[in-house]
Amino acid sequence: MGYSKSVYDRAQRILDQRRLDAKRDSQMRTEAFLSAHPRAMEIENELTHTFTAIARAMMAGEKEKILSIKEKNLSLQAELRGIYAAAGVTPEELKPRYTCMKCHDRGNVDGVECSCRRELLKQIACDDLNRRSPLSLSDFDSFELHYYPEQFRRKMSNIYNFCKGYAQNFSEYSDGILMTGGTGLGKTHLALAIANEVTKKGMGVVYISAPEMVSALEEYQFGREGVRRDITPSLLTECDLLIIDDLGTEFATNFSRSSVYSVFNSRISRGKPTIISTNLSLKELEQAYSDRFVSRVTGYCRRLHFEGNDIRIQKKLERIK
Ligand SMILES: [Zn+2]
Repeated sequence: MGYSKSVYDRAQRILDQRRLDAKRDSQMRTEAFLSAHPRAMEIENELTHTFTAIARAMMAGEKEKILSIKEKNLSLQAELRGIYAAAGVTPEELKPRYTCMKCHDRGNVDGVECSCRRELLKQIACDDLNRRSPLSLSDFDSFELHYYPEQFRRKMSNIYNFCKGYAQNFSEYSDGILMTGGTGLGKTHLALAIANEVTKKGMGVVYISAPEMVSALEEYQFGREGVRRDITPSLLTECDLLIIDDLGTEFATNFSRSSVYSVFNSRISRGKPTIISTNLSLKELEQAYSDRFVSRVTGYCRRLHFEGNDIRIQKKLERIK
């Protein structure tokens, strides 16, 4: 699993820049401190000399000399501590302030990838994706409840409010959502509105139709040159919110079934929320996938059932009138 090379390269450049900036900033603060405290500067220089002097005396086996240099070294260090204390600064405060103190902006700790790098890769890949297909097409303000028949309006208004609240309070701990109901009932509209809102919070959102997702995974799996090389298994499992639109419209194969299941499952195991929209009923979903998949989805997602008459048709008729 991975991202495209360009995503890795950019993440590395950002990490390198962060490390460099932190070091530069620390150097500037240290220089400012030392120039305001000339005696501290002198001591720093002397300390450097005492270290070389000790090394030289050790090579020559001059035990007494070593002891006297060590003594001098200790008293210089004590004097230096005194200067820092009088200035109200600790030497620690002048050290680099890395964005990630775990890995010092290296992206790994003892060869193991740091969480900051994983976060960065995900964010770059999501930003790329959303730059190409912006999520700002639908928002909550343009959702029109008057298109729903009287008897469903209250229910749909509850669904609308739920989605709005969900987007506003979205966090990595949010539950998933399963949107069911016929075509043209506003599922995609509300899913996109959520995507739009969550993206504005600076979180990584991937919005993709089920057929697109399956073909992207096929391209990835079989190493085919495809159109959606920006969609990788890593991105689908790592993004903060994955929205799979129109589940059930993809060409059903063993591969499609198992890849949808595996993406959904790996997100559950990472505790990451997924929104699924489908025109299929739960029964039809069970037939298309499996009972196990549907029970997993309904166990982890809140179900919102959309009801009404196809809004796209109503709008078309309005235009004809
Ligand atoms: Zn880190």
